[in-house]
Amino acid sequence: MSGEISGLSIHITGIVQGVGFRPFVYNLATSHGLTGWVCNSSSGVEIEVFGDESSIDSFIKELRSSSPPLSRIDSFSATPVIPQVYESFSILASHAVVGDFLPVSPDVSICADCQAELLDPNNRRYHYPFINCTNCGPRFSIIQDIPYDRPNTTMSHFTMCDACASEYHDPTDRRYHAQPTACPVCGPQIKFIDPYSETSDNETALASARKALVDGRILAIKGLGGFHLACDAANSAAVDELRLRKHRTDKPFALMAASIQTIRKYVEVSTAEQSLLESPSHPIILLKKLSSASVLDHTAPSQNNLGFMLPYTPLHLLLLQPEPGFPDVLVMTSGNISEEPIAYEDGEAFERLAPIADCFLTHDRPIHMRVDDSVVRVFLEKPYPIRRSRGYAPDPLSAPVNLPEILACGAELKNTFSLSRDRYVFVSHHIGDLENLETLRSFDEGITHYKNLFRIDPRFVAVDLHPDYLATQYGARYAREHSLPLIQVQHHHAHLAACLLDNNRISDDPVIGLIFDGTGYGTDGMIWGGEVLYGGYRSYQRAFHLTETLLPGGDTAIRNPAKISLSHLFSANLPWGEDLPPVRSFSATDRFTLKQQLTSGVNCPITTSMGRLFDSVSALVGVRQMVTYEGQAAIELENLCDPDETGVYDIPVQNDV
Ligand code: ZN
Ligand code: ZN
Repeated sequence: MSGEISGLSIHITGIVQGVGFRPFVYNLATSHGLTGWVCNSSSGVEIEVFGDESSIDSFIKELRSSSPPLSRIDSFSATPVIPQVYESFSILASHAVVGDFLPVSPDVSICADCQAELLDPNNRRYHYPFINCTNCGPRFSIIQDIPYDRPNTTMSHFTMCDACASEYHDPTDRRYHAQPTACPVCGPQIKFIDPYSETSDNETALASARKALVDGRILAIKGLGGFHLACDAANSAAVDELRLRKHRTDKPFALMAASIQTIRKYVEVSTAEQSLLESPSHPIILLKKLSSASVLDHTAPSQNNLGFMLPYTPLHLLLLQPEPGFPDVLVMTSGNISEEPIAYEDGEAFERLAPIADCFLTHDRPIHMRVDDSVVRVFLEKPYPIRRSRGYAPDPLSAPVNLPEILACGAELKNTFSLSRDRYVFVSHHIGDLENLETLRSFDEGITHYKNLFRIDPRFVAVDLHPDYLATQYGARYAREHSLPLIQVQHHHAHLAACLLDNNRISDDPVIGLIFDGTGYGTDGMIWGGEVLYGGYRSYQRAFHLTETLLPGGDTAIRNPAKISLSHLFSANLPWGEDLPPVRSFSATDRFTLKQQLTSGVNCPITTSMGRLFDSVSALVGVRQMVTYEGQAAIELENLCDPDETGVYDIPVQNDV
């Protein structure tokens, strides 16, 4: 027999840690009668198997075809090795190799098995808000370093009890090497705090939090990647109070309901939307409102859509258990004031959220990286991320070619940064609008964390062309301090290149890109946004753009679509008729001053922005003269559009350019 023994050394990269990969390999090897070992390294999973050739062949086939649901194999290499004698197949301790790295799994919503155990009174984790297993639970939000082992997570200070430890060490158990595994005896605990009482008893804390919601109070909840602010979505007084305290006049709030059935009471849910709602990422999905949703109108004024998500942690599931008299839909909005980043550390959360929340439901499992909920829209049965964050980050995009190590700092609004290495582009979780110090701090911490997690030492720094963006200034300083080349990228050229990558384009042959945007600093110092670019990854020409108009008062005009529409009329030499809604929204004196300003051009930057054109139309047709959040005028205009409209305007096309 010994003469027929073969040996194979296998190296796998991708998402292969924290997703049950090693027990899968162990069970597979054992079932094929193979010996050897498997272990995690800081670049993936290493395997050595020994046995007869046909068993090794079928092992390899199954390894590639039926790997665990949350895993993703990016590369697979196998080389023959001299056969060695092992008694059995075993799982060895992880080893770190300096400089090596591998992708880290995003946070994963609670799996069906854990849900069943959570609600089973005979299970030792019955109603335990931190139940998880290899197939679900926190990942990115608790990882401090790689390899992904418990001491490198925020679970390191919880010592497993005997029962948990024996599951953790049993390769046939669902919790084998589930790093955040815990139980009521040894794991994190919740705590309910209000001005009158404080309780750490699990059931009392849950009951108090639920009662607060029934009573119309505003509850701050510590979740997976940060705090949420919650209230009964159908209680308009509570919702209005939350708006007032959060300084958020009109912007829609995200909603959470216990089940798809409940969500279907208020919105249309297609098959594609349902599978996305129930996917491991559990994002917020924008769904078309039914007339029955009028009871939730205060959560999303003047909207056709509501943003719903399902409970993604055991704590959310327990909080939303259906019961007569308990709200079936909760507002579940980020725990922050206005545009600041989401609160995630207990101390700062109490300080920052105390003016908003009546009470807190918190816990003692630290969050290492704050991460907001993701927002996705389904269009033609395909998901389009609006905010790619929890459940997706830090999953990398794959580049068609090997990339040098680059730090790309991103723009100002809805910032994300990116770091590249090999064929990976690690696009960060949602950072927010880089307009204040808090968000800048979060941006800085994020970059440091990603650099460390993925062992990236940038050789180039890319920034937006806009000299005033905090991200640009950060990048310029980083490049100076590290003596690195600084690459300035025109905002809309970045959009073009991103679109090419999104479509897996390798060639750099020029394409035509239509980029419709709000604001981007142009090479001529003007505000671009309605651009037709001709080019590729490396370069572009600005072939066409919208007619230039003036932005009276600069950035402040963005809050005032009425003013922008008068500027568009002015540029087109059209009269300011008294019957037009934007004209009526100004006094005669203000109109006079505005006309003078437009005529003189003082403090009137020039723009070709498509966003401002939408704002203008929205004001002209009487939808919105002033906005309280970015994009409001265009969003409300879109809500009024008839999806069946097929009429077109004749536009002469010049072919001579
Ligand atoms: Zn699970
Ligand atoms: Zn335990």
